[in-house]
Amino acid sequence: MEYQVTCNECGKKFQITADSDSTINCTCPYCSHALSVVIPRAMIQGTAVPPIQQPINPQQPITSQQPTSSPTPQQPTSTNWTKVLLIVLIVLLVAGIGAFAFIQCNRQKEQNVQEELIRQQVHNDSIMRVRKELENKAVVDAQTQQRQRAICTFIESFYRKAVLSGNTDGYEFYQRYLTDYCAKMVFGPGTNEGWEGWWDAFGNGTDEPNLKRLLNNLRVTHDQGDWYNVRLSQNGQTKFRKIKVKIEDGHTLIDDIK
Ligand SMILES: [Zn+2]
Repeated sequence: MEYQVTCNECGKKFQITADSDSTINCTCPYCSHALSVVIPRAMIQGTAVPPIQQPINPQQPITSQQPTSSPTPQQPTSTNWTKVLLIVLIVLLVAGIGAFAFIQCNRQKEQNVQEELIRQQVHNDSIMRVRKELENKAVVDAQTQQRQRAICTFIESFYRKAVLSGNTDGYEFYQRYLTDYCAKMVFGPGTNEGWEGWWDAFGNGTDEPNLKRLLNNLRVTHDQGDWYNVRLSQNGQTKFRKIKVKIEDGHTLIDDIK
């Protein structure tokens, strides 16, 4: 096989023929310099004719050329680690956000349940309060009605005994059921004295009262506040007296008449 040899004395190139893996002693055809050329195994297997650099010292064999680029083992690059780290971070971040959202969602649900409970409680309380108020009002109303009925009965009884009984002296006893103010109004200056004044105040204004009819038709009803209506009806003629009642020291008294 032919090889190209470069003379290390004059630098010129020339061809030699040699077997593989052998050492050739030759002479440069240009400067007659003696050369010892080692043919490496690798060179023989190659098809091209490689230039062979000659050593200065014939004992020093030439070595095969180093491959210009040796395949360097692929190092675990920092880029890969960064990527892995980044992915782990992203996964952690997503998981964290997910967990946070989940917790927030649960918290919100719990809060909603609590608020709903409070709303219901408030609602129930208000219903209870309204019911209680209605009950109290009903009790008060019942008491008021009972009191008004009692006063109606009192006025009716007063009329039967003190006005429509036909006892014209009765007013002397029954004056005690009038307040001082009312007594002055009935028997005061400019008014009739005795029974006349009494009848003027409580009667139906006629000089010929039909007491039996008046008693039969007597009706006392509550008007408003402390005022009550007394119906005095005879022979198709009806008159109303308005009586105001006052409670003094637990006693029911007549305070005003219209
Ligand atoms: Zn030479």
